[in-house]
Amino acid sequence: MKKIIDEKPWGLGYCLLCGSQPDMARFTKTGKRSLHCELCGQEWAFSRIGCPFCDNRDPENLGYFEAEGEEGLRVYSCNSCHRYLKTIDSRVFEEVAPLELESLATLHLDLIANRSGYK
Ligand SMILES: [Zn+2]
Ligand SMILES: [Zn+2]
Repeated sequence: MKKIIDEKPWGLGYCLLCGSQPDMARFTKTGKRSLHCELCGQEWAFSRIGCPFCDNRDPENLGYFEAEGEEGLRVYSCNSCHRYLKTIDSRVFEEVAPLELESLATLHLDLIANRSGYK
């Protein structure tokens, strides 16, 4: 897979409409990343690489994990601020439900993240 770093200006890590933080992200069919607002449901484009919570863009300090047997669902974690972001890959699924539903359907990923020390 092609690595895209710094191709686009750094996007905002919070909602353009209400200023809340993202609770989920998705990769679109074209491989772009968008973030989903936990409060108002707005989605906005964001850099593929980097932590939206603290602007950490050091690949050494960013990681991800996925639940066993669940291709297309990942948790991206940041070792700088110890936050995480559940991310769904639209390229893997035929259809993706509204992200507020996906967020509820993936609570087990929150558990794994919390157990690993991310919040
Ligand atoms: Zn919002
Ligand atoms: Zn961070």
